[in-house]
Amino acid sequence: MYLREIGVHTPVSLLTFEAEKSKDDKHADMVIDSETPALQVAPAPFKTLEDLARDASTCRLCSLADTRNQVVFGVGNPQADLMFIGEAPGQEEDLKGEPFIGRAGQLLDRMLHALKLDREKVYIMNTIKCRPPNNRDPRPDEVQACSLWFDQQLDMVQPKMICLLGRVAAQTILQTDAPLGSLRGRWHDYQGIPVWVTYHPAYLLRSPRQKEKSWQDMRQLQRRFQALISSE
Ligand code: SF4
Repeated sequence: MYLREIGVHTPVSLLTFEAEKSKDDKHADMVIDSETPALQVAPAPFKTLEDLARDASTCRLCSLADTRNQVVFGVGNPQADLMFIGEAPGQEEDLKGEPFIGRAGQLLDRMLHALKLDREKVYIMNTIKCRPPNNRDPRPDEVQACSLWFDQQLDMVQPKMICLLGRVAAQTILQTDAPLGSLRGRWHDYQGIPVWVTYHPAYLLRSPRQKEKSWQDMRQLQRRFQALISSE
């Protein structure tokens, strides 16, 4: 569940900032204080995605900060009309600090190319910014903590359309336990933004027979995206 949905006064997120910061540290580190009954200090207003990425790079809001190498914030066009969201960074992403690299990333690039798109035209990010150990699924508390960054990224980019990559991203964003098969092939809504669901590229590498279905998904996404863009 995301911060904007639960509201800052709901005693669920419980964010506090370390009180003592040096003068040079304009962005306070953040920690979860499970004993604190309410959100105590709101994060400073962030001006740009770059500012937000800089602040997120030192985030310690959840325990994944202990095992990550790098926060993997997101890449692409800050004004992208189309946003792709995966579940979490993997090993290579964790090492390089960029989402969707390696073989899965190359496959995503080919999928984008087929849509006459590339990483400069879309925005790519994950539901959480740090790699879970052994690539396990993100836990709800981690997703909730990371919504501080996720929500602001979404607000800043303001995509006109979102494509969720894989079961975990789809179930997390759409808040459902429905299997991927039942989420594909129909449009969803996330805060007024049309949402499409397809396979994660890493899954397609393991299950290449699903690539044909993936291609059909992408064609449908492309059709609606083009219609949306050309109607403006
Ligand atoms: S996963 Fe998100 S909330 Fe957790 S430490 Fe990383 S950036 Fe912070």
